[in-house]
Amino acid sequence: HRPVAVLADGEERATEAALRPKDLDGFIGQERVREQLDLVLRAARQRSATAEHVLLSGAPGLGKTTLAMIIAAEMGAPLRITSGPAIQHPGDLAAVLASLTGGEVLFLDEIHRMSRPAEEMLYLAMEDFRVDIVVGTGLDAAAMSLELPPFTLVGATVRAGLLLPPLRDRFGFTAHMEFYDPAELERVVHRSARLLEVEIEPAGAAEIAGRSRGTPRIANRLLRRVRDYAQVTADGVVSREIASAAMGVYEVDGRGLDRLDRAVLHALLKLFGGGPVGLATLAVAVGEERDTVEEVAEPFLVREGLLARTPRGRVATPAAWAHLGLVPPPGPSW
Ligand code: ATP
Repeated sequence: HRPVAVLADGEERATEAALRPKDLDGFIGQERVREQLDLVLRAARQRSATAEHVLLSGAPGLGKTTLAMIIAAEMGAPLRITSGPAIQHPGDLAAVLASLTGGEVLFLDEIHRMSRPAEEMLYLAMEDFRVDIVVGTGLDAAAMSLELPPFTLVGATVRAGLLLPPLRDRFGFTAHMEFYDPAELERVVHRSARLLEVEIEPAGAAEIAGRSRGTPRIANRLLRRVRDYAQVTADGVVSREIASAAMGVYEVDGRGLDRLDRAVLHALLKLFGGGPVGLATLAVAVGEERDTVEEVAEPFLVREGLLARTPRGRVATPAAWAHLGLVPPPGPSW
């Protein structure tokens, strides 16, 4: 099951690379983060030092990978990309760390998914630029301490709270990425349209921005789908009407809910009477991974005021019933 809403496919990865802003000035929105990061990087450059470790937290598609690339570019350093799920054994991490060159930026996506032993190895590496490894087996086994060149770790996670405090505390700077507001997304859409050589009217960009769930990756994805539609059914120019009709075809509704979001709401309302229902049960009901429901659909639904996370489980708000055109059962459901 691919999370339909946010994770990138092959085509997407290719265009994403082309659409990524290359420096902090080109990065739209996230003013606070940009300003803070600019200071951190500038100060490091002035001292000719390696930048401190940076933790980026925020929903998928908000630009964490892009920021990691920008950090490396601004520091004039190479970038190495890996992810928590790829690092299951301390040896996997030791191999990556041992191959780093001085000043290199190591981007560790989904850092909260690393195994515990690897995470413990990372503490020492982040703090003392050193790893302790065991070489050989059995009676020949010997502990060895390996010096590492200074490097900058950029960790990314959906929520900083998913990290254990000892890991979280080792980052010199934590940036929380917020969802983008419609005006910022409009700028993202215009910028991407220019790069993709798509002619777009302001109202067309606004229509796409309004349905992008506060997420640049989704804005770019919708733009590409709308471009296809405009090219095949009209003269290629993206107007409000074209954008709106295209999104009808791709089942993205006026509020930006896609098929997964509506499936979650639909299950919550129709199967569980609006809740409360546990996350695991809800995920099974929509045939998705628990993580996908929790990390992809829910943050948006919560933000839209359609779903609430309560200690007893997930609950639909009155707005959810209204959005799906259903009537809530009598009496308070929560
Ligand atoms: P994930 O955690 O799922 O990998 P991410 O947060 O790392 O997602 P990116 O891959 O960096 O997200 O960004 C997704 C797309 O959105 C990229 O194509 C990038 O060009 C675009 N994008 C993200 N942030 C911005 C921004 N501030 N300005 C312009 N484009 C942006």
